[in-house]
Amino acid sequence: MRTLSGKELAAAVRERVRAEAAARQPRLAVVVATADEASLWYVRSIAKAAAGVGIACDVVELGPHAAPETIAATLAGLSADPGVHGVMLQTPLPPGASAQELAAAIDPAKDVDGAAPLSLGRLAAGLPAFAPATAAAVLALLDHHGVELAGRRAVVVGRSTVVGKPLAHLLLDRHATVTVCHSRTRDLAAVTSQAEVLVVAAGRAGLIGAGHVAPGAVVIDVGTNPTAGGGLTGDVDLAAVAPVAGALTPVPGGVGPVTTALLLEHTVRAAGA
Ligand code: NAD
Repeated sequence: MRTLSGKELAAAVRERVRAEAAARQPRLAVVVATADEASLWYVRSIAKAAAGVGIACDVVELGPHAAPETIAATLAGLSADPGVHGVMLQTPLPPGASAQELAAAIDPAKDVDGAAPLSLGRLAAGLPAFAPATAAAVLALLDHHGVELAGRRAVVVGRSTVVGKPLAHLLLDRHATVTVCHSRTRDLAAVTSQAEVLVVAAGRAGLIGAGHVAPGAVVIDVGTNPTAGGGLTGDVDLAAVAPVAGALTPVPGGVGPVTTALLLEHTVRAAGA
């Protein structure tokens, strides 16, 4: 079984971004309205990665009780600010606030994590748009490791607007035959075991076992689930699937680092427009 690491690709993307950032002086703003520790850790890791490639990153903390109107007005203000090139809304949000609705306040030209409904619509229509960094990272990893997509059976597990849905469109654009599974799918294993390329983004540790995977399949594990020991594990049962799959991404060290690198690349691209 091949291990499809994301670390080398992420490093190459960051190198490219660093070279371009020097000329463009990009600025990313991340709007945060949560006290969730894992989420705040992720935001700090974005800010650190941005600093490492010469992108300024403002973390705009609104607090876990921010009103939806305040969040929307903040996103609109940043979108109108010519000194800000990328705008991102971190989740989770306060109860009653919808990420999809609020993200509509982000200018699609600055929507570097592809969160705005207009961005997803443009993606679905085959028009230029920023794809969510995670969905873009899956495609970039497949390309980096030379995985052929045209004409092949691809199955995506998960239908969220951040991963599953945009990824299905990206895979369709690359001429894969795409099936999307979700929590109501009956007999998941019967569908996933047909996949030549299987992408799992359910957020359920150990969901995918040996019986879910066709011999030799390429398996991309997007899931990041906290472990009791303070680490991370994916949605794929590694010990069970490794003897069956042809190739598999590690967690951590697979999709995650590429996601962050592509978010920065989108920001530098937004600054160059
Ligand atoms: P989500 O909760 O919004 O969506 C999960 C999807 O999985 C849903 O569409 C649901 O229908 C489906 N699902 C849940 N249980 C299922 C089951 N038993 N069988 C089949 N489908 C099932 O989550 P999300 O935001 O799309 O994230 C998915 C996972 O990817 C999470 O673990 C998240 O932490 C991870 N993630 C990783 C990165 C990264 O950079 N590596 C980025 C974003 C999300």
